[in-house]
Amino acid sequence: MERTYIGELGQHVGETITIKGWVSVRRDQGKMVFFDLRDMTGTVQGLVLPSNPAIEIAKGLKVESAVAITGAVNKRPEKNVQADKLNGDIELLIESIDILNLSETLPFEINGDTSGINEEVRLQYRYLDLRSERMQRNIRLRSQFVQKCREYLFKQKFTEIETPLLTESTPEGSRDFVVPSRLQPGKFYALPQSPQQYKQLLMVGAFERYFQIARALRDEDLRADRGFEHTQIDIEMSFVEQGDIMGMIEEMMIETVESLGFTIKEKPFPRLTYAESMEKYGADKFDMRTEEDRANNVLAYAWVYKFPFFEKTPEGGWTFTHNPFSMPIPEHVDMLLKKENVGDILTTQYDLVCNGFETGGGSIRAHKPELLKSVYEIMGYTDEETEERIGHMLEAFKYGAPTHGGIALGVERVLMNLTNEEYLREVQAFPMTRGGQTAVMKAPKELTPEQLIELGLRVEKKEKKA
Ligand code: ASP
Repeated sequence: MERTYIGELGQHVGETITIKGWVSVRRDQGKMVFFDLRDMTGTVQGLVLPSNPAIEIAKGLKVESAVAITGAVNKRPEKNVQADKLNGDIELLIESIDILNLSETLPFEINGDTSGINEEVRLQYRYLDLRSERMQRNIRLRSQFVQKCREYLFKQKFTEIETPLLTESTPEGSRDFVVPSRLQPGKFYALPQSPQQYKQLLMVGAFERYFQIARALRDEDLRADRGFEHTQIDIEMSFVEQGDIMGMIEEMMIETVESLGFTIKEKPFPRLTYAESMEKYGADKFDMRTEEDRANNVLAYAWVYKFPFFEKTPEGGWTFTHNPFSMPIPEHVDMLLKKENVGDILTTQYDLVCNGFETGGGSIRAHKPELLKSVYEIMGYTDEETEERIGHMLEAFKYGAPTHGGIALGVERVLMNLTNEEYLREVQAFPMTRGGQTAVMKAPKELTPEQLIELGLRVEKKEKKA
């Protein structure tokens, strides 16, 4: 029989239908057996009468088994109606049960909040953890948010374009993950810390409005809100100024999160200079919510801008604070070109802050070779080193590169704000453990001797630090 979704059973009262899904709960009441049955659309109560031949199967049916169940959709007796619940007024009088896959006893309970369960076990069995209500809600909300951003961006004439994963290092202030080349032994690709350079090259390539739901890979110390991999809504636009991008992103965030039912504390978003935010909050990300806002899950967005372009390195040189490809604020372009008062140069960088997190950041870019070259000179690169690293960008900027700028919004950060989750792993389907071990599968792993030979690699074991 054709499958009926549990969420639509209310339209089938009096009919015999088949549902497919999982057994959430079994209540064996001696004679009758009751079930809570669920699929992706909802839950319904089912019962098997003692006279039904299916009663034997019902008694042996373990929770979390996958089943196809045929039965009659009946109105519940008035006294048992749960008016506030989906399907609270109906129940399924089960006629037959087809066990598609009988479940063994689960390694942990998934009926409640699984966040307290040992991390290794939880991630080893992530596919079971994902069945829990909270994980279902978080991952589905993530999909909805991304869908709404996509819809918004398409409405604004953006083109979705993928950029390579096997590429050359692009500086975002982290270590690269590298991939050995088989065809050119001894050489390595880097996995992108962001699509920064390619998205700028797409502007030179005349796409004008690019976006990508991009994976970014950064080998950095893992923290609650940081993983090796994250996803960003990566955007770049041509012929725009700082205010255009900030305004558009603000509109996108308001439209998307409000349509998902969330409340924003202040619109338009407050805009603070870096200096103001340091003075007021002692940090460049801050939480503007009151106790009451927190309780009501209000989203307090703000922009921070006018960051210093450079900061001192421990060796006494200069490095970029956010993004070497940025343009200084218009009044400071001359200082950059002359490499004067370097510590005072402000960048066009803008960060979007929400509830204490940095949710996104971007800038207007240096679109002329001499500007970008100046940045690298200030950072102490020789001409040869600059050419080696970003020669292709300097070359591209010689051919009518448009003025351009962009931003990246961290999808996980947004979702952590929306769900009030403290850990990145609660909003990613298959996160890693704190030790950098993949969920379910066992990477990182050693290579076979054959693979090493093919790649021209030899592994020297490092002594483990005590
Ligand atoms: N590339 C930056 C990042 O990934 C974002 C941007 O400037 O567009 O954080």
